[in-house]
Amino acid sequence: YQAKEGGGNVAAYDSTRDAASTDQLALLAELREALEVDDQLVLALQPAVDLATGAPTGVEALIRWRHPRRGWLSPVEFIRPVENSEQLGTFTRYVLDKALAVAAGWAREGLDIPISVNLSARSLLDPRLPGEIADALRRHQVPAHRLVLEITETVVMSELEIIDEVLATLRSMGVQLAVDDFGTGFSSLTFLTRIAVDELKVDRSFVIRMAESPEAAAIVRTTVGLAHELGLRVVAEGVETAEQRLALAELGCTAAQGYHFFKPMPADKIGAVLGTLLDRARPNVFPLRADGAS
Ligand code: C2E
Ligand code: MG
Ligand code: MG
Ligand code: MG
Repeated sequence: YQAKEGGGNVAAYDSTRDAASTDQLALLAELREALEVDDQLVLALQPAVDLATGAPTGVEALIRWRHPRRGWLSPVEFIRPVENSEQLGTFTRYVLDKALAVAAGWAREGLDIPISVNLSARSLLDPRLPGEIADALRRHQVPAHRLVLEITETVVMSELEIIDEVLATLRSMGVQLAVDDFGTGFSSLTFLTRIAVDELKVDRSFVIRMAESPEAAAIVRTTVGLAHELGLRVVAEGVETAEQRLALAELGCTAAQGYHFFKPMPADKIGAVLGTLLDRARPNVFPLRADGAS
């Protein structure tokens, strides 16, 4: 930090960076432990809801690190170094395994709700990934369509072929794909012509600015229209206010996620929340036909 204020003090800048990378190395060593010891890396779960009925449309798994000394770490504090390390594969398998264990619990309770898992673009470069996901689905006895993989559009051009093949294999297995942070990548629209996806997630940055920025509102409206035209689901991210919720509904958006509805919550809370949402959304009227055989 000093280096920036001092205006180009190269030595100071380098030592700051060294300190930062030493810290990252320590973090990665600690992550290796965390992946072996249980309950340091935990999933927070955040439902997305149907704007018309309030019914849950899915639940996103968001990783948190309960670090023994550093306290709770958010993914923005450790995902980048993990992505650039050889631990990415282990980390990805860990998250998928935890998420599918949660989904298996829902399946046992008869809840038909998909779970969304965020994948680092780099993990899509590993051709073993689809096989590993198939194994995990089988192990947890979760049907493939209950798993949604969230991916961002930002991938390096030279690697497109491998990634496309991995994604096509996953899709042929029945796993669903969602484009996360839609509209913020470099190749948003081209991406859709290369890969068949099931869902678009409108980035929070557009939702936040909708009210005061006609451009942001137009991007939301256009994304919603595009999704409808392509037969895809669309979910608005980061909805924090009732005004945003109403504006989204007016723009034709059908589902949303954000603090206005639920903050990410611990796994032991989610079951009860989903139960309540489903009960409330169930039309509490008489059966459609008088004989009850609707
Ligand atoms: P994302 O997938 O776009 O997830 C949405 C982020 O916005 C989450 O932050 C969530 O907690 C936060 N959020 C949800 N609703 C609101 C809201 O109303 N207002 C605000 N201000 N924020 C909201 P989080 O959990 O810190 O995750 C950040 C990013 O880290 C995620 O962005 C995702 O890209 C990445 N990530 C999270 N978990 C994993 C994981 O298991 N694997 C990988 N590779 N990446 C992950
Ligand atoms: Mg996501
Ligand atoms: Mg997102
Ligand atoms: Mg986002």
